[in-house]
Amino acid sequence: MSLVVQAQSLSILVTDNDLRMRESLRDLLEAYGLSCVLAEDNQQILDLMNHTHFDLVLLDLNISRANSLQVLDQIKLDHPDTDFIVFSSDASISNEQVVEHLGVWDVLVKPFDPRILITLIKNISETRILNRKKAEDSSFNTLNTLSDVEKTLQELEDIIQTEELHLTNDIINASPVVAFVWNNSANWPVQFVSENVINLLGYPANEFITGKVNYNNLIHPDDIERVNRDRDSNKQALQFSHKPYRLITRSGMVKWVDDTSTVVRNEQGDITHYQGILIDVTKRELARQKMLKNQQSLEHIAHHDPLTGLPNRILLLDRLKQSIKKIKRIKKHTALLYIDLDKFKEINDSLGHIAGDEVLKSVAKRLLSSVRAVDTVARIGGDEFIVIMESVSDINDVKKVVEKLNHSLQQSVQFNMHELFVTSSIGISLSPDDSVDPEELIKKADIAMYRSKQEGRNTYHFYQASDY
Ligand code: GH3
Ligand code: MG
Repeated sequence: MSLVVQAQSLSILVTDNDLRMRESLRDLLEAYGLSCVLAEDNQQILDLMNHTHFDLVLLDLNISRANSLQVLDQIKLDHPDTDFIVFSSDASISNEQVVEHLGVWDVLVKPFDPRILITLIKNISETRILNRKKAEDSSFNTLNTLSDVEKTLQELEDIIQTEELHLTNDIINASPVVAFVWNNSANWPVQFVSENVINLLGYPANEFITGKVNYNNLIHPDDIERVNRDRDSNKQALQFSHKPYRLITRSGMVKWVDDTSTVVRNEQGDITHYQGILIDVTKRELARQKMLKNQQSLEHIAHHDPLTGLPNRILLLDRLKQSIKKIKRIKKHTALLYIDLDKFKEINDSLGHIAGDEVLKSVAKRLLSSVRAVDTVARIGGDEFIVIMESVSDINDVKKVVEKLNHSLQQSVQFNMHELFVTSSIGISLSPDDSVDPEELIKKADIAMYRSKQEGRNTYHFYQASDY
């Protein structure tokens, strides 16, 4: 995603009563170079806003719906310049009238795709900058207009580019390019190495030439096999480059190097030695890895539910597509179990949202331990879960799993001094019998689940065409 959030100056307050959600929002924002302050309840929001100005508040309406709406009104009154994005688990409030009525930028229904949130923040940031520019009487302030979006990634890319530029300059100055000549015999004894090796590895050149230091021993243990493999498989080549690998310096530091070697042969065509140049690319590699890690964590956030850690709807659809494709080949069935907890609202209403969250987390764990590792358990909405059972050959296996997970869900959940009980209504659809289209398969399981609700809950029902 090539978003860059222009938000050095955007101060953000994040509120959510679930610590995990707060932290994952913070991680998400940080991955885009945005920093934020976290608040766990409405009182803390008000306290913080009394002392600090925030440009943007990410407000969780579930903290306590009525109270949150009051807080929203109050902050809007005291801080007319603050923008709001509101989260809610209640899909019914996400429509234009409500958004307009609340006077907020947008309402996101949990679980939501974090990329949407980043896009919204980007829009807010850009609009604020535009407004500020207008207010500053059209004088063009270049500092404020430079795009801030995706600052971290941009910065990392800059480091990589700058490093590359440095390398070019440095090559011209000849200093960081260390030249090596290795003999073609076991352990790669060094025949020659340029004096500047001391800057790279901390050992003087003569220690390599006398054999006091063995070059191969300085290669990171996790990389040595790959480097040797590269050398072996490139014996026929004239020149070859390794993918960057790590060397351990005299002081124990790890340095990444680019190593390009030339194979030198005698008149008979036998290899006599290898000559190569090493370039220190440590900064570039570290920046690249950090960027990769950021991308991976964004990827994870985009595909998982922050409360339970289960795959979300996006990942579920992907897995379902794969599963349906696979059964065509292996001539088996995919079973889709649509699970909705019974009267779950009562737990929230009587013991609060945190109790409800605990139940959801424990349901997630129990579902996971009731199915095989190849099966998928996803949370697709408030108290709605989906299980994909892979490669089913017998309908009785589905019944057995459903009974097993029903039994497991019926065990009590401990919350503070309370013992909580939940049951679930389950609808089941099968592929290819009911459909080979993922969305339709989910819809049919949902219809079957509704039948279970109608039949008095705490039961399961296979989809039948007459249910439609
Ligand atoms: P039914 O048997 O008909 O399913 O009754 P229900 O009370 O379970 O009703 P429904 O499934 O429609 O409502 C699910 C409720 O789950 C609505 C919402 O208050 C609550 N909810 C949604 N997301 C969350 C969440 O992340 N945490 C908690 N604690 N509650 C949530
Ligand atoms: Mg329910």
